Amino acid sequence: MTAQLAGHCHCRAVRVILEPSKPAAELPLRACQCSFCRTRGALTTSDPAGHLFVEAAPGSLNRYRFGLRVTDFLLCAECGTYVAAVSDIAGRAMGVLNVRGVDLSGFEGREPDPMIYDDETADQRLARRQGRWMPVSVVEVQPSI
Ligand SMILES: [Zn+2]
Repeated sequence: MTAQLAGHCHCRAVRVILEPSKPAAELPLRACQCSFCRTRGALTTSDPAGHLFVEAAPGSLNRYRFGLRVTDFLLCAECGTYVAAVSDIAGRAMGVLNVRGVDLSGFEGREPDPMIYDDETADQRLARRQGRWMPVSVVEVQPSI
């Protein structure tokens, strides 16, 4: 079994756990060139055979939509970190993780693949993601004091 990878936003209100199907070195590392991702220096990964858990205290996640409005960008309500992006694909929450935003280890020193998706329609976008994004569970947890 491949080890879990854990990360968190800058203020630690949002925690992520990636259960990958293979080592981090074999997962993709993408630099989407849209204005949102580029200006944040986002570097994302996804593992269709893995699973991403996003754990956040109630009220500590904001969801931001723009453009085609088929994607929720999950932002920490406290520190503003872009944590992950999630779409409803065939009734299932599928997403990518911003490994740079949550400081996930295992991706250091890698050259990301630049990605340009500007010309896609909403249908094309969701179809592409169907085979490449990973299942996501967003879990509300009370902070353990
Ligand atoms: Zn935060």
